[in-house]
Amino acid sequence: MKYFDKSTKEVLHHLKVERTEGLSTKAAKRRLEKVGPNQLRQAEPVSKVKLFFSSFKEPIIIVLMVAIVLALLSALYDFRVTQDYNHGMAAIYEAIAIMILIFVNAFISFYQANSAQKSLDALQEMAHHHIHTLRDGNWEDLDTSKLVPGDIISVKMGDFIEGDVRWLKVSELQVNESHLTGEADGISKATDVLASDTDLGDRTNMGFSGSTVVNGSGIGVVVATGMQTELGKIADLLQGEKQQKTPIERNVNALTKKLMYVAGAIVLFTILFDIGKEFFRTGTINIGKLPEILSGAIALAVASIPDAMPVVLSIVLTIGATILARNNGLIKNLSSVETLGATSYIASDKTGTLTKNQMTVTRFWANNATFQVEGNGYEPLGDIIPVTNDADYRAFLEAAVLDNEAEIMRDEDQKWQPYGNPTDVSLVVLAAKAGITRSDLLEKNDDRDIDVVRVLPFDSTRKMMSVVIQEQDRYFVITKGAPDVILAKSEKIQLDDEYRDIARYRKKVDSKVLEFANNALRTLAVSKREVDAQTAHKATVAELEQQLTFLGIAGIIDPPREEVQDSVEILHDAGVQVVMITGDHAATARAIAYQLGIVDDKHASVIEGKEIEAMTNDELFEEVQQTYVYARVSPEHKQRIIKQLQRHGEVVAMTGDGINDAPALRAADIGVAMGINGTEVTKDAADLVLLDDKFTTIEKSVQAGRRIFANIRNFIRQELITNVAEVLALVLSVVLISAPIGNIQETTPTLTALMVLWVNMISDSLPSFALGFDEPEADLMRQKPRNTKASILDGMLVRIFIRGAVMGIMVFLAFVWAARNGMGIPEAQTIAFLTLVFGQLWHVFDARTENTLFSRPPFENGRLNLAVAFAAVSSIFVTLLPFFNNVMGTAPLSMNLYLAVIFLPAIPTFLLSGIKVIFKIKNAL
Ligand code: ATP
Repeated sequence: MKYFDKSTKEVLHHLKVERTEGLSTKAAKRRLEKVGPNQLRQAEPVSKVKLFFSSFKEPIIIVLMVAIVLALLSALYDFRVTQDYNHGMAAIYEAIAIMILIFVNAFISFYQANSAQKSLDALQEMAHHHIHTLRDGNWEDLDTSKLVPGDIISVKMGDFIEGDVRWLKVSELQVNESHLTGEADGISKATDVLASDTDLGDRTNMGFSGSTVVNGSGIGVVVATGMQTELGKIADLLQGEKQQKTPIERNVNALTKKLMYVAGAIVLFTILFDIGKEFFRTGTINIGKLPEILSGAIALAVASIPDAMPVVLSIVLTIGATILARNNGLIKNLSSVETLGATSYIASDKTGTLTKNQMTVTRFWANNATFQVEGNGYEPLGDIIPVTNDADYRAFLEAAVLDNEAEIMRDEDQKWQPYGNPTDVSLVVLAAKAGITRSDLLEKNDDRDIDVVRVLPFDSTRKMMSVVIQEQDRYFVITKGAPDVILAKSEKIQLDDEYRDIARYRKKVDSKVLEFANNALRTLAVSKREVDAQTAHKATVAELEQQLTFLGIAGIIDPPREEVQDSVEILHDAGVQVVMITGDHAATARAIAYQLGIVDDKHASVIEGKEIEAMTNDELFEEVQQTYVYARVSPEHKQRIIKQLQRHGEVVAMTGDGINDAPALRAADIGVAMGINGTEVTKDAADLVLLDDKFTTIEKSVQAGRRIFANIRNFIRQELITNVAEVLALVLSVVLISAPIGNIQETTPTLTALMVLWVNMISDSLPSFALGFDEPEADLMRQKPRNTKASILDGMLVRIFIRGAVMGIMVFLAFVWAARNGMGIPEAQTIAFLTLVFGQLWHVFDARTENTLFSRPPFENGRLNLAVAFAAVSSIFVTLLPFFNNVMGTAPLSMNLYLAVIFLPAIPTFLLSGIKVIFKIKNAL
C-alpha cells in the first residue's frame, strides 16, 4: 500500500484511526503485538557460551594455563624420576586449584559482563527517544519503540522521526533526510497528494524513519514502523554496538601485557639462576631439584600479574555509571566517567541551566514610555504602572501574544500553569494582566477577524520568531526577537498610532535595552510590518523579516538558580573554569554571571558572537582563557570556542539544548544535553544527559567522575604494591639463599604458588575491590583537574616500588628468620604467607588515600572493613585446616607466632606513612 498518492482522509480511513482521537491504548497494544516494536532488528547477541569462554583469551589466563602445564610437568617428574609422591601430589593439587581458579575467574567475568550489560541497557533505556503521540484523545510523550501504524504524532524542530509518516498538517516543516537521499539540506514538507510514480526523494508529503526535523512543525500519521519502514528495507542488520574499552581499561590492559613480559623474563632468570647456583656450588646439575625450581617459577609467574585488576576495573566503572545516574547524570558510555573527572572547563548555557527558566516580564518600553509590571508567577494579576490609557501599549502587547504559541491554563487546583516556551509564556502573562489574550484576539467577531496564516518558529541563530496574520483582507508580519536584531531590521517605529522614521530613536532604544540588561533582565523586542497577500504566503523567512516597524521592548527577569553559586564556587576551588555561553544580551549575561560568581568583576569583559565572527582562530585562541562570558552567540560559535580551548589542552564539557547545538556537543570532550528541555537530537549527540537540566548536576557528575578515578587509582596502587612485594619476596630467596638454611633448601621458594594465588584472588582482591566504593577524599575538589595525557600510574610509581619493596623484604626476612630457627618448609612458608597477607591488609587503609592513613578516618568504608575482616579470618583458617595444609602447603603456627605475623607487618605502613607526614613528602612513599 502506498500512502503518498492518497488523500489524508483515505490514509486515516485505511489505518482505522480518528484524526483528533488517535489510537486507543487497547488498539495500539494489539497492533504492537502484531507488528512488533518499532526498532530495526539487531544482530543476534553474542551467545552466552561464547561470552563465558571469551575470558580465556585474557593474557592473565594464558599465564595461569602455562602455570598448570609447569605444575603437571613437575608432578610427572616427581612420579617418574624422583618418586617423591608427596611433592608430586602437591603439584597436582596446584594444577587443579589453578584450573578451578580459571573457571571461577571466567564465571565472575561472565557474570560481571552480563550484569554490567544489564545495567548499561537500563541506562540506555532511559536515554530512549520519545515522540509526541495522540492516544485516547490525549497527547503524550511515547517511547518511540512503542509506536505503531495508525499512531498520530506531532513533531517539531529538533525531533527525530522514527517510523514512516504521512503528513496531515505542516507548518514550515523541513526535514533532513540525508540518510536516505544524500541531500544534506532540509527538505520542505507538504500534505498534497502526489502522483503514484513519485520517487522516494520527492515524496514531500511523507516523513521517513531516521530523519530529523530541522525547522517548523508537523502532525502526521504513522504508516510503517520498524523493519517495514524505508530505512528498515535498506538497513543491513545493525551490529550490536560494541562496548568500547575505556582509556583506563586500555591503559590497564597495556600495563598487564607489559607486566607479563617482565614476569616471563623474571621467571626465566630465576630458573637459570637457580640451576646456575647449583652448578657453581656442586659442579653438577641436580635434576632432582627441578620440580622445586619449577614450583618457585610458577609462584613467580602468578605473583607478577595483578590477576583481578581488569575485572575489578570494569565493575568499578559500571558502578560509577550507576552512581552518576542516581545523581541525575545519565552517561552514555563508560569512558565518559573518566573524562568527566578530568574536566577543566564547563561551558554552560544560561537560560534554564544557570537560571530557573521561570520568566516574568517586570518592565517594558512602548510608545516611548517605560512601564513597571507588578505580580508574580503565572497568575495574570498585577498592575501595569503608571496606570494609563492602554492605547500606549495595546499594539505592542497584541503583537506579543499573536506572535506566540504559549498558553497559561488553570490546573485542577485552580493554579495557573504555563504551557510552551517560557519566554513566550512571560509575554502571555504580561498581556493577560492588561486583559489581552490570544484566544480573544483570534475569536471571530464583528469588528475584527484575525487568522494566523504562517508560523516561523524561533531559532537561536536568527534569534527571532514571526507569524503572518490576516486581518480582514490585510496581511501583517509580526516579528519578535533579540532587540538588536529587530532594531537592525526596523525602518520605522510606532508612536501614538503614527509610523515614524526610526533613525532618531535608535539611540533611545539602545540605551533602554542596555538599562534593562544591566539590571539582569532578558530583553526582547516586538515589531510588525504590513505585506501583500503574495508576500504573506510565498516569501521566505528572510524576505518577511525586514523593513519592520518597531513596537517596544520587554524586560524579562529569569532568576538565577540558587544552588548554582555554590556549585560554581566548588568548581573554581577544583580548578575547573565555568564559562557562560548564551544567546542573550551581553549586559544581561554579564549581570547574571556576576550574580552567580562566574566573574568577580561587575565590568568583566564579554565577547559577543559578532566579535567571534571577526576573529581568526589564533585571535580567539589568545582570548578564550581570559573570557568567562560569551553573549549573543550562535551555536556555530560554540564549536570554535571549544576547539580553541582544546588547543590549550583543556578538557571541555559543553551544554546545549537546541538541534543546532549537536555538532558542538560532539566536538566537546563531554557533550552535555538537557534531559527535560533538550531536543532528541542533542540528547543523541551528548555524552552526559542532565535528567533535571540543572547545572549543579554537572558539578556533581564531575565530582563523581573524580571520585571514581581516584578510587581506581587507589585499588591499582594496592594491587601493584602486593605484586611487587610477592615478586621481590620470591626473587630474593633465589638470589640470596645460596646454601641450605636449616630445613630450607636453597631452591625452596618463599611462598608456594597457591599461597600467591590466594593473596591475589582473595586476601588482596576483595579489599582492593572495596576501595572502588570508597567515599571521596575531603580534598578531592580542591585539587587541579587531572592531566589526561598522564598515565594512570602518574605520580605513584615510586610509592608502589618503595612500599612493595619494603613489604617484599619483610616477607623474605620473616622466611629467613623461620629457617634460621629450624622450622620446617611449610611453617616457614606459612610465616611468609601471613606476613604478606597482613602486611597488605594493614596497608590497604593507607592505599585509600593519596596522602597517608593518618589523613582520613580509617574505618569509614563498611565494605572495606568487612572485606579486611573476611580476608584476615579466612587466611588464618587456611593455615589451620588440614585440607588446606595439604593443598596450599600451609601449616598451623603457635599462638605467639600468629600474633607476631598479624601485628608486626603493620610496622612498615605506620613507619613509612609517619615519615611521609613528618617530612611532608608528597607522592613518593
Ligand atoms: P542560552 O543560550 O543561554 O539558553 P538564551 O536562551 O537566552 O540563552 P536564545 O534562546 O538563543 O538564548 O535567545 C536569544 C535571544 O533571542 C533572547 O535574548 C531573546 O531576545 C530572543 N528570544 C528568545 N526566545 C524568543 C522567542 N520565543 N521569541 C522571540 N525571541 C526570542
